[in-house]
Amino acid sequence: MGKVLIIGAGGVGTVVAHKVAQNSDVFTEIVIASRTKSKCDAVVKAIGNPNIKTAQVDADHVDELVTLFNNVKPEIVINVALPYQDLTIMEACLKTGVNYLDTANYEPKDIAHFEYSWQWAYRQRFEEAGLTAILGCGFDPGVSGVYTAYAAKHYFDEIQYLDIVDCNAGNHHKAFATNFNPEINIREITQNGRYYENGQWITTKPLEIHKDLTYPNIGPRDSYLLYHEELESLVKNFPTIKRARFWMTFGQEYLTHLRVIQNIGMARIDEVDYNGVKIVPLQFLKAVLPNPQDLGENYEGETSIGCRIRGLKDGKEHTYYVYNNCSHQAAYKETGMQGVSYTTGVPAMIGAMMFLKGIWKKPGVWNVEEFDPDPFMEQLNKQGLPWHEVIDGDLEL
Ligand code: NDP
Repeated sequence: MGKVLIIGAGGVGTVVAHKVAQNSDVFTEIVIASRTKSKCDAVVKAIGNPNIKTAQVDADHVDELVTLFNNVKPEIVINVALPYQDLTIMEACLKTGVNYLDTANYEPKDIAHFEYSWQWAYRQRFEEAGLTAILGCGFDPGVSGVYTAYAAKHYFDEIQYLDIVDCNAGNHHKAFATNFNPEINIREITQNGRYYENGQWITTKPLEIHKDLTYPNIGPRDSYLLYHEELESLVKNFPTIKRARFWMTFGQEYLTHLRVIQNIGMARIDEVDYNGVKIVPLQFLKAVLPNPQDLGENYEGETSIGCRIRGLKDGKEHTYYVYNNCSHQAAYKETGMQGVSYTTGVPAMIGAMMFLKGIWKKPGVWNVEEFDPDPFMEQLNKQGLPWHEVIDGDLEL
């Protein structure tokens, strides 16, 4: 059906590459490009399909991207590099007539600030160019938005309360490691918390609010209220929502390490002078922490991510919980990567599949919940992320 260009050959990029290769009826030609070409070549070797091509690109530079896109001529780019590259890749798409999909919203390097405004500003240009841009198509954001759209379509007249709950109950046997890019991960977690209630955003101190939530097949885990980017689009696209929150589990060991990292200044994102060389402490820390791509082999346990929703149907209050549990070992056996990369990469592939099949194809810039959730939900079951429902159960929230 179409040619796809994947940008980024990290944990998520590796999973995307495996999954597009498994769906060769849809993805008829595949190219993987990243800053370090040898990583793309290693991914191709692991997949064992020599027809997949690789290329080098620094996606911070629009001109390099334009040259690559003109050579490759993909129908869609799956951007699984870092959030810093979203805007340059979107610019290059507009210059070359290529459609776009990503899994994380744009962040400027010098401030850890998460909002869609930068990318939503491209709406008119994508619309006028007749190109589709699909934003935030990983798990959360991504499946969390599709789950919400599915609930709205099939179970509620009015969604009133939305809690996205993200538990990683895995054990990688390292004292401290992050499950995706450490720099992006630590920037996110050390921010103030924020949630939406009655039309307003309420700010909390970082990790100030937490409570035990019970996850299926896992049990109770201490869950912390964080700000997460999909809250911004979901409360706009489902205006009946009165309160929207996001919760993520952390173990005490992880939080102790994080506190030390912050207290000693290693989470700083400004430049410091070290022996005449300018370094960013958090980037240096990334260089010494375990690479998330190497965690898979000894990773045990599973993730459980879902949406807990309360709202009205035919004038009566109902609850709905939809979730997926993903085993780190099963993900590793299939793709060589752990569950967090897997749960992000599979939905990115499905989003691109939805586009190439013409189901999620409409000029403009869209968040995933603005498309029909049904064909996406069907693919989740087929592509390794089956979901389960609890209807009118206790949400604990
Ligand atoms: P990694 O750090 O493992 O991989 C990032 C890849 O992007 C690397 O191959 C890196 O190349 C490449 N890259 C970085 N900068 C550039 C550049 N300027 N030009 C070209 N390539 C570049 O990250 P992950 O795979 O863990 O995460 C990928 C994305 O997925 C991130 O944006 C992250 O925020 C997002 N994510 C989304 C989730 C969701 O559920 N929505 C969950 C988890 C992650 P090099 O190897 O040379 O550094």
